[in-house]
Amino acid sequence: MAPIYDFDLITIGGGSGGVRASRIAAGHGARVAVVEEDRLGGTCVLRGCVPKKLLVYGAAFAADFADAAGFGWHIGQPVHDWPALIKAKNVELDRLAGIYQGLMDNAGVTVLQGRGVVTGAHEVTVDGKTYTAERILIAVGGWPHIPDIPGLRDHAISSNEALDLAERPDEIVIMGSGYIAVEFAGIFAGFGAKTHLVFRADQPLRGFDQDMRQGLMDAMRDRGITLHAGANIMSVSGADDTGKHIVTLDNGQILHADAVMAATGRSPNIAGIGLDALGVLLNSKGAIKVNDAAQTSVPSIYAIGDVTDRINLTPVAIAEGHGFADRIYGQQNRQMDYNNVPSAVFSQPPLATVGLTEEQAIEQGLPVKVYAASFRAMKNTISGRDEKTVMKLIVNTANDKVIGVHMLGADAAEIIQGIAIAVKAGATKADFDATIGIHPTAAEEFVTMRTARGE
Ligand code: NDP
Repeated sequence: MAPIYDFDLITIGGGSGGVRASRIAAGHGARVAVVEEDRLGGTCVLRGCVPKKLLVYGAAFAADFADAAGFGWHIGQPVHDWPALIKAKNVELDRLAGIYQGLMDNAGVTVLQGRGVVTGAHEVTVDGKTYTAERILIAVGGWPHIPDIPGLRDHAISSNEALDLAERPDEIVIMGSGYIAVEFAGIFAGFGAKTHLVFRADQPLRGFDQDMRQGLMDAMRDRGITLHAGANIMSVSGADDTGKHIVTLDNGQILHADAVMAATGRSPNIAGIGLDALGVLLNSKGAIKVNDAAQTSVPSIYAIGDVTDRINLTPVAIAEGHGFADRIYGQQNRQMDYNNVPSAVFSQPPLATVGLTEEQAIEQGLPVKVYAASFRAMKNTISGRDEKTVMKLIVNTANDKVIGVHMLGADAAEIIQGIAIAVKAGATKADFDATIGIHPTAAEEFVTMRTARGE
């Protein structure tokens, strides 16, 4: 008997989550199509994590060159070739998009190139052609949100364009102080741009541990980034005859910059994909509402990743997509666990975290002891860099479990990834204490913190 539907599953969105769900579903024997209007890869591969991290690596050389002098190197004035970097980055992105295409081909997933619109509970239309499926998975991610401030939407770039500028701006104003704002501030400052960070809070990175926020603020200032804390942008003008935009702040300051970047959050990317007509329910932030099985209010339609606005990180979207495919097509009861999801901000220096902040633990009424350290890492002694590594453990005294670990400093992301396994496994402070350090490292501090704050 011929199948009722063209496919068992149509996934809309060929980003990290959609590709994983499609590939795993096909591996379980499902007939799968993925709809993508751009190349495969999505935000992370094409416009986010990957190109951003390549630029972060590039920018970090600036500090290395400066520090090298303390170790006896004479390297003169380093010169950077921005177009060469952007070209090399794009070659790498082409390679990765090709790998994603290969993953789909090898898994037997049909790639439908074009913009997908959900035109029925079991129907997707791609550039005028209609396909049917037993289930539809929405994995369309998010898109930069730029607030409605006079001139901002007309003149500001978002992270999409910031990753692909033909020239490095000499002076840039970045609005916001979330992940994207602080990462790009580090990138542009590293490559020598005069960089302003304008943000409305007292400290960057709202929601992160207070000591990390303060440490990053100090480090960014030391690295030459001009911080405009507690400030809002009132207006942005187009470029004047000198090629500069005029940015007016609510504290009366006026900045002149070659580029203005809004890093003011991302919104679910659902405009025009037909969800309202079908009655797919959204939450108050415009994200698709789903149950624990990733199912929307229309039973045949599912959603994963940033479009559901739970934890907006690539590995979370991948885990959600994998879980969806295993549950529906692999008869496995795989559930997503949103506790203790580690994350890193690739600022310069980087910051990484797993578990609760001190503030969250206190807010939850947990009895806590806090172990904190702030020190000059060994590399910074003879390099002369006066930058502090900041580390922090939050311990629940009721059961001795380590419930939060935070680090600002070199290799923080690499270090916290390992520590996250211990936290996930329920390690106690006694387990940390019983672990022998690797000497000399900064990370060994995590197993040698003996005195809690206030003791
Ligand atoms: P965030 O939500 O992290 O930060 C948004 C920033 O914009 C905040 O500083 C916020 O201020 C500010 N803001 C928003 N609206 C306004 C406004 N109207 N006026 C003034 N300031 C405003 O978003 P990002 O764009 O940085 O990143 C989006 C998401 O992408 C993140 O949530 C993260 O999940 C993901 N991401 C993860 C990365 C990683 O894992 N390394 C890297 C990059 C992105 P306030 O704090 O005061 O609200």
